Amino acid sequence: MKVTIDEKSGFCFGVVYAIEMAEEILKNDRKLYCLGDIVHNNKEIDRLSKLGLEIIDHDQLANLSDCKILIRAHGEPPSTYEIALKNNIELLDASCPVVLKLQHQIKEGYEQIKNIDGQVIIFGKEGHAEVTGLVGQTEGKAIIVTTKDDLSKVNFEKPIYIYSQTTKSPAAFQNIINIIKDKLISIGKNDELKFVVHDTLCRQVSGREPQLKFFASNNDVIIFVSGTKSSNGKMLFSSCKIENKKSYFISDINEIQEEWFENALTVGICGATSTPRWLMEKVAKFIQKF
Ligand code: SF4
Repeated sequence: MKVTIDEKSGFCFGVVYAIEMAEEILKNDRKLYCLGDIVHNNKEIDRLSKLGLEIIDHDQLANLSDCKILIRAHGEPPSTYEIALKNNIELLDASCPVVLKLQHQIKEGYEQIKNIDGQVIIFGKEGHAEVTGLVGQTEGKAIIVTTKDDLSKVNFEKPIYIYSQTTKSPAAFQNIINIIKDKLISIGKNDELKFVVHDTLCRQVSGREPQLKFFASNNDVIIFVSGTKSSNGKMLFSSCKIENKKSYFISDINEIQEEWFENALTVGICGATSTPRWLMEKVAKFIQKF
């Protein structure tokens, strides 16, 4: 049985940047707080915790002062920076440059559209840290659309700017755009209403999808390694599953079942932008024993 690890799977540059920053600081300081999971992967968090990283939430942030706190790749809303200033907290900002650019775009878009009584829509997952950071750029006014049912919150008589969380599927984003366009046509507003689509998907994720589909269809069995909280993990796994029915989602080796590999000649191992390389290597070694 030939076991291959997908070369393109693993940390994106945003996650690498945040983890390297944490490791660098922890070389000198024995303890460092990080606001939220530094990466959506418990195994990697366990490794960093042993070096001194402590994950805190926003309630804990409000009660801390005179310390250093790392901001992870997902970014934060302005309110976090205000609390830090008030509590004399030094923020070590590892927000991904792609997310920072998107925050800036949304802030600018919101300033424009509020002058014409319009709305900002963010296609993303409610409660996801990146989305919270994005909504924060609009004084909390942006409408979060996770599924097409959420479009009931939109007033189709008013101008619309739409943006996407960086890690959403291009096909799902396009689907929402098409539904909005159809709605505008159906109410006769298509020509007169300002509807502007901002393509803000991260190419580190969307560029990975076609390549991953090719990888999935060229192996008998696919083992997709990811934390369960990873948005892009869910999205990329569902792409694998469409291409190859024998695709299995795992977070660690204890979830692997030997019967998955019956009659398999090739096994492909791949993962999300938050999956560490060392974990995929551990999975490969484990499977090679069968
Ligand atoms: S997926 Fe893209 S936007 Fe998100 S952290 Fe990675 S590089 Fe940045």
